[in-house]
Amino acid sequence: MRLDKLLAHTGYGTRSEVKRLLKSKVVKIDGQVAKDAKVKVDLSSQVVTVFDEVVDYREFVYIMMNKPQNCLSATRDRDYRTVIDLLDESYLIYDVAPAGRLDRDTEGLVLLTNDGKLAHEIISPKKEVYKHYRARISGELTKEAVKRLENGVEILDGSNESFMTKPAKLQLIGSMDDLTVVDIWIMEGKFHQVKRMFASVGCKVEYLKRLAIGELKLDESLPLGGYRELKDEELELLR
Ligand code: URA
Repeated sequence: MRLDKLLAHTGYGTRSEVKRLLKSKVVKIDGQVAKDAKVKVDLSSQVVTVFDEVVDYREFVYIMMNKPQNCLSATRDRDYRTVIDLLDESYLIYDVAPAGRLDRDTEGLVLLTNDGKLAHEIISPKKEVYKHYRARISGELTKEAVKRLENGVEILDGSNESFMTKPAKLQLIGSMDDLTVVDIWIMEGKFHQVKRMFASVGCKVEYLKRLAIGELKLDESLPLGGYRELKDEELELLR
């Protein structure tokens, strides 16, 4: 990446402000004063400093967030706060976006990244990555309904087109406050899919939380609204 672009990206000002910094000889590459704004730098092998402070920049960033309710998995919104609003300012330069959406009232795991290729791998139903949800539902969930959900049910998608869901997995967990607690794994991410699937068998989702995307599990020590970058081994689980 060009030095002036790197510094502008990492919050050292506009391109002209960066030029001024270079003129004042406070920018160094591997300890040598850098003067040329156009010089290419590679932070995997070089160290860039400004006023002796190391410039930290990675091409791709991967963040897991425990999304709270009343927060949109979108980049910006006029009425509601978004997952991006919850991030520290220092992440804004990376231009991350949520990989897949959760409803406003759904909690749990959201992956935020600027790696479009990986996001596609996760979202695309063709890649058959299971998303694991825990639901609390009202209404009777019969054995026959579980079988129907596992085999695939017909629901409406976001454009009100009829859609047949791919095979799902279900596991009864127990009960809580007169509601049935059930885990469900689905491969697609159609609008309100889990809610619509349960509705198709006469049940209503009263609470929904995403626990995992493929093998990547939500770090339950994250409070609602909390987030952290993925560890290398967690990222490997998505590749
Ligand atoms: N299915 C839903 O109905 N809602 C979500 O937020 C995610 C999956």
